[in-house]
Amino acid sequence: MPIQILPDAVASQIAAGEVVERPASVVKELVENALDAGASQITVRVDGAGKRLIEVADDGQGISEEELSLAVARHATSKLRTAHDLMAIETLGFRGEALASIASVSRFMLTSRKSDSEAGAKVTVDGGQTGKVEKTGVPVGTVVRVEDLFFNVPARLKFLKSDATERGRISALVTRYALAYPDVRFKLLLNGKPSLQTSGNSDHREVLTHLMGLDVAREMLAIQLKDLDIQIMGFISPITVTRGTRRELTFFVNGRWVQDTALSAAVLKAYQQYLPVGRYPLAVIFLTIDPQDVDVNVHPAKSEVRFRQSAPVFNAVQRAVRRGLLAYMPAPVSPQSTWQTGRGSGSAQRELDPAWGMAADAKVETETVQQSPQFRSDDSQLPSQPELPADDLPLLRLVGQVGATYLVAEGPDGLYLIDQYTAHHRVLYEALLAKGTRRAEAQSLLEPVVLQLSAQSASMVESNLGIFGEFGFKLEGFGPNTFRLYAVPAFLTGKDPLVFMQGLSEELDKNDKDATINIKKKLAAKVSRQAAIKGGQVLSREEQQALLNNLVTCQSPRSSPDGRPTMIHLSVDLLDRQFGRRIQR
Ligand code: ADP
Ligand code: MG
Repeated sequence: MPIQILPDAVASQIAAGEVVERPASVVKELVENALDAGASQITVRVDGAGKRLIEVADDGQGISEEELSLAVARHATSKLRTAHDLMAIETLGFRGEALASIASVSRFMLTSRKSDSEAGAKVTVDGGQTGKVEKTGVPVGTVVRVEDLFFNVPARLKFLKSDATERGRISALVTRYALAYPDVRFKLLLNGKPSLQTSGNSDHREVLTHLMGLDVAREMLAIQLKDLDIQIMGFISPITVTRGTRRELTFFVNGRWVQDTALSAAVLKAYQQYLPVGRYPLAVIFLTIDPQDVDVNVHPAKSEVRFRQSAPVFNAVQRAVRRGLLAYMPAPVSPQSTWQTGRGSGSAQRELDPAWGMAADAKVETETVQQSPQFRSDDSQLPSQPELPADDLPLLRLVGQVGATYLVAEGPDGLYLIDQYTAHHRVLYEALLAKGTRRAEAQSLLEPVVLQLSAQSASMVESNLGIFGEFGFKLEGFGPNTFRLYAVPAFLTGKDPLVFMQGLSEELDKNDKDATINIKKKLAAKVSRQAAIKGGQVLSREEQQALLNNLVTCQSPRSSPDGRPTMIHLSVDLLDRQFGRRIQR
């Protein structure tokens, strides 16, 4: 046969194969369109598991009569103009092929009215053949009606699962979007019967109840984390509530439901020592990151994403989960029961390496996970084992304080000696740089304090008043090299502000070798160094625990901002060898 360009209808059908795999994919595309159109109410009607009818009605901005036939054309979109726009997608759709694809494999009708139009209009497409646009009286918004899905692609029909399964997928999908958009009222009707209905009053828990049942939803722990480049919120199960599969881990990236094994692995790792082998947590996690840092154009179904930098994302997810678990688990669980699995499976060699066990540990843990049969069978069809950041710490159980300078903690693999000063320096440093924690944590002084600084530190402070403000200092110029201080960061409560500021002034006078680090980090390092508890200070049990918990959830817990180690790890293996046990485990 000679080479020919395929007729549009055929090309659409081929492309449709990737976008429209099953009825649930149609629902997904239509719901995404409704959300992109700013709908506050979305009604999904499904008959015959979606093969007979799928209808999605919204009260969004609508499509004008003139644009109606364009909307169902291939590569026609109002959400993207240039290839450059692809770098930062802020809508759920952008490929301009969903409606065309769906219309090419069904009997399709699009009815819409914009709020400023007197009447609406509709267009029908029958197996790819677009009919005439006709006027019709309808409310503002859009209704997409998809009948006889795959009537012209019988091969597809054969690949569908039972009606119950297809219905289940549809309802799982609508429920997930309802969860991600709790301010939108969702209604799902299966064969005319209401299957899901949300109120649209922004209550995540209400929707969680639909997803996992009242009892479980009630127990889910809320988590939250705000970093410079990423924000995380969501719900995770306490360690007492588990499932036999990892399918109940749900992730949304910028409002888009995505499947990502690496994100799942990050969550699992946070639970690692707490769950028995073969048991998995439940989680619904929403990530908000700069659209420029995530590529959503990986697959036509848009359910996979690629992060520009994945390690910090996984790291943040893991910290958020771990922080949540710690917050709700103040009393450490007995080490025997919690850490058994971690110890028992430590078959690989663990060395005390000079970098305090970073890389070596992380690798071993990944291997351990892989050995679990559950993990393997679940993952067999997926590409590669995701890489996790090497810098994270396991949950640690506090043992106590030594010499008023070090904390002793026990982890799944041995002993950790923690320098309270460098550890606190790290904790305060990250807290200062974290987004969103600022003003709230400023503490007003009863009496403003007048500070006389050296010329050098005064000019440093003067030119960075904004940053100091973000850190929680409220300062005002008050004559040459003199400032009035009205408020300090909350972590300085109880310290003499004058003594602190004099110390800080000396810090600021020191010359830095490294001129390349940015000024904000530099100031954060100095402020936190000055504020950190020093060695030789006795800490209460609560203070020790708080410091440990905060350290474990740091982004880079193993070193201080100056690069000094915060901890020394003595692995069980090392201890065994030192004591001449050297058991082959
Ligand atoms: P995409 O969503 O990738 O832009 P679609 O084929 O899904 O592509 O939709 C094509 C266009 O039709 C959209 O860009 C949008 O302008 C319009 N459209 C589709 N559905 C709706 C809707 N429910 N409300 C308003 N406009 C819609
Ligand atoms: Mg779309």
